[in-house]
Amino acid sequence: MKVISGTNLEQAKSHNRRVVIESIRTNGPLSRAALARLTALTTQTVSNIVEELERAEILKAEAPQRIARGQPITPYSINPDGGYSIGLELERDHAVGLLTDLSGSVRARVERVVDRPTPADAMPILAAITDELQRSFSFDRARLLGVGIALPGRYATEGVTSLSPATLPGWQNFPVARELGKLLGVPVLVENDATAAAIGERLYGVARGLNSFVYLFLGGGIGAGMFLDGHLYRGSRSNAGEIGHMIVAPNGLPCICGKRGCLDRYVSLGSAYEYLNIREIELQAPHTLDALIEQQRSRIDEWAGAAAEAMRQTIDFLELAFDPQTIVLGGPMPPSLLQRLVSQLEPLHTPVNPGIERSLPRIVIGTTGRDTAILGAAALPIFSQTNPQFDVLQKPIGKKP
Ligand SMILES: [Zn+2]
Repeated sequence: MKVISGTNLEQAKSHNRRVVIESIRTNGPLSRAALARLTALTTQTVSNIVEELERAEILKAEAPQRIARGQPITPYSINPDGGYSIGLELERDHAVGLLTDLSGSVRARVERVVDRPTPADAMPILAAITDELQRSFSFDRARLLGVGIALPGRYATEGVTSLSPATLPGWQNFPVARELGKLLGVPVLVENDATAAAIGERLYGVARGLNSFVYLFLGGGIGAGMFLDGHLYRGSRSNAGEIGHMIVAPNGLPCICGKRGCLDRYVSLGSAYEYLNIREIELQAPHTLDALIEQQRSRIDEWAGAAAEAMRQTIDFLELAFDPQTIVLGGPMPPSLLQRLVSQLEPLHTPVNPGIERSLPRIVIGTTGRDTAILGAAALPIFSQTNPQFDVLQKPIGKKP
């Protein structure tokens, strides 16, 4: 049976609420009149929503502004202290937690070194990070909306991973959201790291306000987060964007997935480490890697040359398949390494429509740095409070729902 979901009044109301919040988040402080103009909602609807959100302390009134004629206007902004959220990230070699306020500002950060943890290893570490974050910043605990976690790799159903052993051992079918939620006593939302990073970049970074972009997450492996036509695109089994196992070099280097010549084997941090003959666990501080890169300049340039070749092919494919406004590069790959790679990317393959004038470059570097995925993870509970379906929030503003 085909299920088609309708829209009832309550859904429409919460959708409008999200549209108001998103408009202010994207544009900065706005008056009721400006909100009504931007959202195509009636002034009365906007007034009701603003009043409700102000009571809930999600919005706050700024100082009234005098205008030439008529009544002074009151702009409304997001109240940073209206809610807090914790974002966690678990990668093969590190776990990080951030406490953010409602505006996305980071109020506390905790990082731990890990070595390919199993769920049994990771759960207490993640709980300890959450604990430390809450102790290091004093705030009203009732306003903690929840915890979002970004994990590498594939997913089965909601909050249940089906991570391949290639990424982290022992995570097959582990119900992360349920288990971590039990341990922490707050709702936990799970997202793959590339999609979480795309959310972070869309909310706080270079992709703010963009309607279609692809985020290339360069970490231990490589994955794509896709934000297309105003929506996150996850695919039928939440595995869209697993491009690390796309073959870019037929009969190339063997991959743990069983194929040969996968993108992961040329572009990821893992492939760079392999090229430099270093073990991840030797790199507990970022400056150690920078020192190694400095020492092995010519090896790194060789790696970057091979990686750039595979990247050009990937960028060409993504542009042809999805026609994004731009492709954002980012993730935990150290900036020194990412810069080497990017410096060798040009010239990219000829685009399908070379004559067309672009408002954005074909590739841009993400601005929120290596914490992008965690910021995106932290954003998950914030929006699930007003919206159980994050991607609905992302409908382009200015259009009637
Ligand atoms: Zn593979």
